[in-house]
Amino acid sequence: MTDRAIARAVEKWFASHKRDLPWRVEVKHDRGDRDPYYALVSEVMLQQTQASRVAERFERFIERFPTVEALARAREDDVLSEWTGLGYYRRARSLHAAARAIVDDHEGQPPDDPAALRSLPGVGRYTAGAIASVCFGVRTPIVDANIVRVALRLEGKELHPADPRAVALSWERAEALVNAASSPGAFNEGLMELGALVCTPRNPSCPACPLKKHCRAFAESTQDDIPLRVAKKPKPEITHAAIVLTDDLGRHFITRRPRKGLWAGLWQAPTLESETAPALNAVRAFLATTLGVPHRSLPPKALQRDGGFTRVTSSRVVHFEVWTLSKQFPGLQTGPESRLAAREALLAGDPPLAVPHRRILLGEGA
Ligand code: SF4
Repeated sequence: MTDRAIARAVEKWFASHKRDLPWRVEVKHDRGDRDPYYALVSEVMLQQTQASRVAERFERFIERFPTVEALARAREDDVLSEWTGLGYYRRARSLHAAARAIVDDHEGQPPDDPAALRSLPGVGRYTAGAIASVCFGVRTPIVDANIVRVALRLEGKELHPADPRAVALSWERAEALVNAASSPGAFNEGLMELGALVCTPRNPSCPACPLKKHCRAFAESTQDDIPLRVAKKPKPEITHAAIVLTDDLGRHFITRRPRKGLWAGLWQAPTLESETAPALNAVRAFLATTLGVPHRSLPPKALQRDGGFTRVTSSRVVHFEVWTLSKQFPGLQTGPESRLAAREALLAGDPPLAVPHRRILLGEGA
């Protein structure tokens, strides 16, 4: 009976408080009234990016790739370019691969079965459950960070959200509640929305919460202590010495970053990465190797330090040193992982630069 009351309270609250987000448009189809392609794109974007930021970017992405077929056909560089600024580029590659799998293996129709959805690249239990319940009305639970927090507070459990007991409890409660709901999709979305807007990490709005009479943390005044917090470790620091190298036509020499790690697969000015700031000789040696020229062919004063800045990513602190090479090398070697690109093309995202290198090469956001 309590589960039914909680589920109903969430559904009722959601009907009058849900945010008007661009992926929540109604699109009637024979299996429901929400577009599963929109749900897939938005859920992948939301995996590590805040809803307000996703809301700014979602419609542009859909305009460029309006259907799952259009995304499947796109070049990887175009998908990465459209993802610029959202971070975690691995998600963009997975989404691209998922679109291809839907076209190749599911006749262009995203499956409604959570297990089939989970077989798509980059789609885990949460994303599969969200698409299946919201777009197809499948009675399946979802758990994200918001739902873990709400579940722990409802149960009054003082646990860290990553504790396996907290995760197991959250899935158990989410399953019981979605089974008691009238509409699985509205309930799942509503519970996430409640976590995002009311049962917030700090200063939850308990007096305005539709679940307050069912909430143990509220009854015991422990909502500010749940979930437990763990002190954050300082992020490791690294130096990227980026070298600006321009040919006599004004084109920049750029290289592709490795396919894994920070800004994976995006393009950049040639960059020497090291734990501490490299000496001039180390930068000269790196440049000579990159250009395939003898060290001694670089005139001593041709390479000058030209400022720097720091970027804090989700996993590390990156100190950028900008170096400029004034001597020109007309016969620069290019290949699949290095090329010369005109400023206009780089401004248009072709090929896509890692965001700090838009600042280094194009002066954006300096
Ligand atoms: Fe969260 Fe407070 Fe609502 Fe409990 S009453 S679910 S702590 S907002």
